[in-house]
Amino acid sequence: MAINLEFDRNHIWHPYTSMLNPLPVYPVSRAEGCELILENGQRLIDGTSSWWAAAHGYNHPRLNAAITEQLEKMAHVMFGGITHQPAVSLCQQLIELTPKPLTKVFLADSGSVAVEVAIKMALQYWLASDKPQKTRLISLRKGYHGDTFAAMAVCDPVDGMHDMFAGILNQHYFLPAPASAFNTEFNPADLAPLAELLQQQHQQIAALILEPIVQGYGGMRFYHPEYLRQARTLCDQYNVLLIADEIATGFGRTGKLFACEHSGITPDIMCLGKALSGGYITLAATLCTDEVARGISQSAAGGLMHGPTFMANPLACAVANASVDLIRQHNWPAQVAAIEQQLKQELAPCQTLPAVKDVRVLGAIGVLEMRQRVDVARLQQQFVELGVWIRPFNHLIYIMPPFIISKSQLSRLTAAMYKVAAASS
Ligand SMILES: *Cc1c(COP(=O)(O)O)cnc(C)c1O
Repeated sequence: MAINLEFDRNHIWHPYTSMLNPLPVYPVSRAEGCELILENGQRLIDGTSSWWAAAHGYNHPRLNAAITEQLEKMAHVMFGGITHQPAVSLCQQLIELTPKPLTKVFLADSGSVAVEVAIKMALQYWLASDKPQKTRLISLRKGYHGDTFAAMAVCDPVDGMHDMFAGILNQHYFLPAPASAFNTEFNPADLAPLAELLQQQHQQIAALILEPIVQGYGGMRFYHPEYLRQARTLCDQYNVLLIADEIATGFGRTGKLFACEHSGITPDIMCLGKALSGGYITLAATLCTDEVARGISQSAAGGLMHGPTFMANPLACAVANASVDLIRQHNWPAQVAAIEQQLKQELAPCQTLPAVKDVRVLGAIGVLEMRQRVDVARLQQQFVELGVWIRPFNHLIYIMPPFIISKSQLSRLTAAMYKVAAASS
């Protein structure tokens, strides 16, 4: 039976769209490896990993096996008063893979919820430490941390629509986005606003939250590792927790297993999501140090007051275990390095196009920043005609393909980016 696009258009919200004049949607009936297969049989090479998630590609035999084997045992049981092997194995793996001081894991059901939990952890930690006035957060402009309210309150004030929700969102401090780019010389003045704010306000600041190295949906910006290194030092100096939101960057995407490793730092709280379950099913995690966990557990409440119904869903944990196993096979460093190399080479010619303001590549992420906002519907159609799936937004045409993408598939993606950017020039 054909997918009823008219029903879809009239009744179903899609991400970030209006119900009156929604952007077009394309009916997909299968996905395999690095390809999405449309209902009409057309195959599109995927440049998105379905928003950073499907790092190992679609319909992966090992991931399929993990989730179906688990399905035969149990799809779900509550996590209150119960535990199970998929959750225990996954948390063991996460503790082993993440920097050493992170030893306690909260399994959440989406990235936004993992950020909510991280913020709650930070606030509850200071409450329990007799510093109840430490309730404000510091965030960076161009940051993105999710769509729920506490997460939205630390997103870039413009993109996070703080105007629309003025009076509803909690008021936090926003610092300029780090100006020194990843591969440039570091300008120490980048840290001045953070140093000044901490010096003046540290008594009321609970945590600094940031996306390490790659600011994703706020502009696909790659900033200098020295910024993060010094931010860590300043947080220590002023007794402020550091929350690293690795939801997009975690599991190899930037060329390091976690982006914090570019700076050799450890956060007090780390959020994981997206590629955690290999793109199969929604799952996220918030890790924290012993110190933070001990503090929270000493609070009047005696626990962390959070517990989603589908916490630690066994299907999600089982497929995440298999996905993390694939990461631990350690093919990703060579794959990501090869993708980075090829992206650099094949996207470089875009730099000469009049419509292109900047070309940048880090790990398995390739970005064209355009001078003008793009017409999403028109570009999307051009990409589909070229046989690729790339989803531009704002001023950005960017890809973060599955790590298993072949050289020729990746060339199809970069050629399409060049063509579409040239046609916009
Ligand atoms: C996607 C994303 C989130 C939100 O995750 P969801 O699973 O969409 O709720 C949070 N932080 C960052 C950095 C992200 O990229």
